[in-house]
Amino acid sequence: AKETGRGRVVCYAPEKDEAFHAQEWIRSALNGAEARGELSLWWQPQIALATGAVAGAEVLLRWHHPEKGLVSPAQFIPVAEATGLMVPIGHWVLEQALREWCSLAAEGVAPPRVAVNVSVTQLVRDDFTAIVKEALGRFDVPPSALELELTESMMADMPVARTRLAELEAIGVRLAIDDFGTGYSSLAYLSALPFDLLKIDAMFVQAIGSSSAADALVESFVRIAKALQMDTVAEGVERAEQADFLRCNGVALAQGYLFARPMPFSAFRDWMLRRTS
Ligand code: C2E
Ligand code: CA
Ligand code: CA
Ligand code: CA
Repeated sequence: AKETGRGRVVCYAPEKDEAFHAQEWIRSALNGAEARGELSLWWQPQIALATGAVAGAEVLLRWHHPEKGLVSPAQFIPVAEATGLMVPIGHWVLEQALREWCSLAAEGVAPPRVAVNVSVTQLVRDDFTAIVKEALGRFDVPPSALELELTESMMADMPVARTRLAELEAIGVRLAIDDFGTGYSSLAYLSALPFDLLKIDAMFVQAIGSSSAADALVESFVRIAKALQMDTVAEGVERAEQADFLRCNGVALAQGYLFARPMPFSAFRDWMLRRTS
């Protein structure tokens, strides 16, 4: 039971009610957030384990609400997807990533490949490939400098995914399969798709060293990637022992707090300048 504003007491299902209000609040507050300048991208480097070089960077969306502060993407992205807002926001993410990529080059930093997360609500749209192509052309970014991250679960039971991936592959962008190992799609199906990079989910990276089964799983992901001629990146690498294990097992790239946390663009630019000077 809960006290209402008018002093009445009503019974309610707290979880459902709170979830509903959170969703409603996010939905109205998020509408137009990109135009009001409340969204930004934080950059997290991907490190080549063999050399320590920066091979790429993933951009992660951040929402700074004027009163509530930083709202987690885990909270607002599902709402944005459910309400159709993820399409314009995803479009903004793509453009902003390319804009910032260009400004790195303008400031004398060799820009690493940029990885952008794509929502299923973007991928299913007929115009998605054209939007990507248009943005690359407008910012004059080579397609090979852009990587699109799609999750394994998006591929399941989606004939349109196959079509879209073929179109994207044809324009020359790189395709990464995110959160690998957490979905339920069959390897037979995945192997028919033109992915360039497999992202080993943080869940498996964090289990390294906890059991021989956990280690064997990571090893098997690397073998799968090799068989499918895909590169591998491990996500959520926090400890040196994890990085050592990954390097010894042939994982090319790593991303995680051990190397760098996601950071605002200006901090990432300074981080890159310090590394290369
Ligand atoms: P993701 O794509 O799997 O991104 C990786 C998440 O792991 C990020 O959380 C990142 O900040 C976090 N992370 C990085 N290194 C470490 C580490 O060493 N340890 C731990 N514990 N975490 C680490 P974040 O930024 O909160 O993003 C959460 C999710 O929101 C992302 O998961 C992605 O699914 C989604 N997301 C973020 N930005 C976008 C976007 O622009 N578009 C779409 N569609 N989804 C996005
Ligand atoms: Ca991702
Ligand atoms: Ca390709
Ligand atoms: Ca991931």
